[in-house]
Amino acid sequence: LSENNAKPIWHPMAHPAEMRASPPRVIMQGEGAMVTDIDGRTVLDAVGGLWNVNLGYSCDPIKQAIARQLDALPYYSGFRGTSTGPSIELAYELAQWFEPEGMVRSFFTSGGSDSVETALRLARQYWKIRGQADRTKFLALKKGYHGTHFGGASVNGNANFRRNYEPLMPGVFHTPAPWTYRNPFDETDPAKLAALCARAIEEEIAFQGADTIAAFIMEPILGAGGVIVPHEGFMPLVRDICDRHEILLIADEVVTGFGRTGAWSGSRLTGVKPDFMTIAKAITSGYFPLGATLISAKVAEVFEADKTSFGAIGHGYTYSGHPVGCAAGLAALAETKRLALNENAAARGAELATALEALKTKHAAVGDVRGKGLMAALEIVADRATKRPVDKKTMARIADAAYDAGVMLRVSGNMIILSPPLIVTAKDIATIAEGLDAGLAAAG
Ligand code: PMP
Repeated sequence: LSENNAKPIWHPMAHPAEMRASPPRVIMQGEGAMVTDIDGRTVLDAVGGLWNVNLGYSCDPIKQAIARQLDALPYYSGFRGTSTGPSIELAYELAQWFEPEGMVRSFFTSGGSDSVETALRLARQYWKIRGQADRTKFLALKKGYHGTHFGGASVNGNANFRRNYEPLMPGVFHTPAPWTYRNPFDETDPAKLAALCARAIEEEIAFQGADTIAAFIMEPILGAGGVIVPHEGFMPLVRDICDRHEILLIADEVVTGFGRTGAWSGSRLTGVKPDFMTIAKAITSGYFPLGATLISAKVAEVFEADKTSFGAIGHGYTYSGHPVGCAAGLAALAETKRLALNENAAARGAELATALEALKTKHAAVGDVRGKGLMAALEIVADRATKRPVDKKTMARIADAAYDAGVMLRVSGNMIILSPPLIVTAKDIATIAEGLDAGLAAAG
């Protein structure tokens, strides 16, 4: 086993030739927020797995819950009206957890892409049941990321995830993201930009015809697109627009759910009640693949009163409500609550923000820093005035130097994206800052 014989793996989101040119790091062990590679090097995982390992790599209660459930019942289908104990318990727990957002039902899935697909399909079915079968279109934000299934890829607002898979689902339209660093309006004031982006949505709705649109999907804070944090007024503006035009609002909370932003959801940061929420990732802290599409009372009532199609009869996954996943989820949520990880994300996030501002002052290559709680991004530019992004090689140098200094970073385009486990300490934040400092020094 070595880096060089990882060849039979076709890595997600990577071209095979690229992986051959630069062999992957092989991670063998994890403890707390640290991971150890095949050469025995231990580094702080500032990626948190992939935004998901909020409780770190050695959470005994989750491991024990998984072991207990494997003994009792490793699997039973959630199809045809059967359920398992953990899936029922977790659905109650999620309804409680997201009561402020108005969520009452959980449709379980195997991950984020499945959750998005479920929300898109149920949104269409909702309008069919209500006798408005022409409401089939979707609106979304440029730079948004919603997974890799055909529906999710279609609502994705980043060309990289779309262009090799055309034609995607027809009837999807994108409007500008409220991204202060780069936007078509050249507007840097967050509140003014939010208003301009809301107006662009209104214009698109007028152009399409509101009665052709099923739903608007957005991440409350755009994650993979580069941690774009809208002004707090933006999501309420979107909710208001959707209400006036009777368009459903899907909040994709796959990254923002369960405390990463400092609140239990991104929607809760602004008091918005969406019609659907998609969750995954941190629901089990990465210990088991699981996701859910959460459904509001407004939507559930329409399905439950329906006499013709009996709810989501045409949609479901073999692993919907997997009992081991749900047991892992129950244990992860109990630990997340016990440790008040939302509060730690807010406190450590404030320290991280201060450290990132200092790095921006020190390194001219840092064009912008932004974030909320423990999700943050740095934009690396060749020239601050023109905001011209640095090349791939520079980004690889930054990541390698940071790794040598003891910190695993994620680079995406010209951005460094940070999403460490939510259990990190103040000392861990200092370590991340040191790793970034070493990385940026290597940017040249
Ligand atoms: N939605 C968002 C907002 C995401 O960030 C992701 C994954 N990064 C997904 C959906 C897809 O989730 P998964 O990779 O678990 O399918």
